[in-house]
Formats: sequence, C-alpha cells, structure tokens
Amino acid sequence: MTHILAFHAHPDDIETLAAGTLALLAANGHRITIATMTAGDCGAVDTSLEETARIRRGEAAAAAAMIGADYRCAGVGDLCVFNDDFCRRRTVETIRAVQPEVVITGSPADYHPDHEATSILVRDACFASTVKNYVTGAPAPLAQIPYLYFMDSIDGRDRQGKWLAPDFAVDVSAHMDVKRAMLNCHASQVRWVDRQHGISNFTQAMERFSAKVARPFGVAYAEGFRQYTGTPYPRGDRLQDLVGAALLKS
Ligand SMILES: [Zn+2]
Repeated sequence: MTHILAFHAHPDDIETLAAGTLALLAANGHRITIATMTAGDCGAVDTSLEETARIRRGEAAAAAAMIGADYRCAGVGDLCVFNDDFCRRRTVETIRAVQPEVVITGSPADYHPDHEATSILVRDACFASTVKNYVTGAPAPLAQIPYLYFMDSIDGRDRQGKWLAPDFAVDVSAHMDVKRAMLNCHASQVRWVDRQHGISNFTQAMERFSAKVARPFGVAYAEGFRQYTGTPYPRGDRLQDLVGAALLKS
C-alpha cells in the first residue's frame, strides 16, 4: 500500500483535476489523503468567511470520504497563499503529518495565484519536509523526498492560453461516476462558479475537460500529469506504475 497525498489550493480543485485517478488508486487499495491550502473561505457572497470555510471544509471532507480518503486543510486564507515563511511552514506541517510517498499538486502555471503559489510551496515543502533541523509544529521529518507530480492546470492552459501538454495521462473512464459525485459534494460552489466564472454547470465543464485530455489517447475520459524530476527529487515512475493498465502515454 502506498500513501498518496493530493495537495492543491482550494476545495474542488482536486475533484476537478485528479479525483478519477485518486478513485482508481483507492480502489487498488492505496491510502489517499486530500489536502487543500485554504478552506475556500472567499468562495461565496452570501455567507461570512468563517461560515463559508465551515461549509466548504464539510463538502471537501464528504468528497474525500467517497473514496475512503482523509481530508486536511493547511489553514491559509483564500488569496493569501504566497511563497513565504508562514505558508511554507503550514505546507511542511501538512506533509509531515501525512507522511506520503507520492505527492500530487497543482500546475506551476495556472490561472489563479493561489494555484501557482501552492504548486511552488508544495514542490519546495517536499524537500523541506525531510530537513531535520527545519523545525515546525509537526514532529517527524520525512525519511525521504516523496515522488512529486503536477496535475493539469484548470483548462489545461497557462495564463497566455498556451496548451500545457501532460507527460502522461490516466484513463479514468471507469471512475467518472465517482469523480462526478465527488465534485458534486461541493454544492456551495454551483452558484459561485456561475457568478464568478460564468460556468453554469461545473460538472459538465469538468467532463468536457476530462474528455479533451482523453481524446489523443482514444479513451473517453482522462487526467493529465507531469512529473517533477529536479535534483534531488526521485525520478522513478512511481505514480505511472501505481495506475497500471490505466496509464496513457503518447
Ligand atoms: Zn482553485
């Protein structure tokens, strides 16, 4: 059994970009933790920060529970995610509390500042989590740097609209019902996404994107990933091996 940590910025990012792969891994007996940097406290107009955060933590935990995963929040505020000392410590504490062997985070290039900052923070925290004298509230440093992967960006593009091709993809066609149900746990976001992004049905938007990622591989639905292999991060094909026959490479 391998412990996989999916760590992105907000509740519903992971459900949009990687829940099918997580459902596949959970079905294969692996342990999954879903973590978000924020509780999504700015993702509403009718409720206070505190009330919105409480609602959205509940939605994220319910989505995680659908695949037997744990849910954690690093406790940073929406639009307050920066590559700074506070956020790095919260990120390292989260990773040390989970002790993962594989970490999947957001794309380094994406539309939202919290997404891009989360990607940098998680990337660097995977290294910092192993440094014994980097002392945080969580007691145990990791024994080794985890395998690190990036999810697709939202819509698969950077801020200039350039397509960010994944290194590989995972066929999640058999897990779309679970992915859809996990995303639908985020009921508070239906009106918000419509108002903020002009997307009237975010489940359909997720399905369209999953189908777009899948198209070059000739399957119905897929999720794309890129591996970070900078020194001294591990370079083996750990996630690729874990997904087995669902691996899609061009
Ligand atoms: Zn987000």
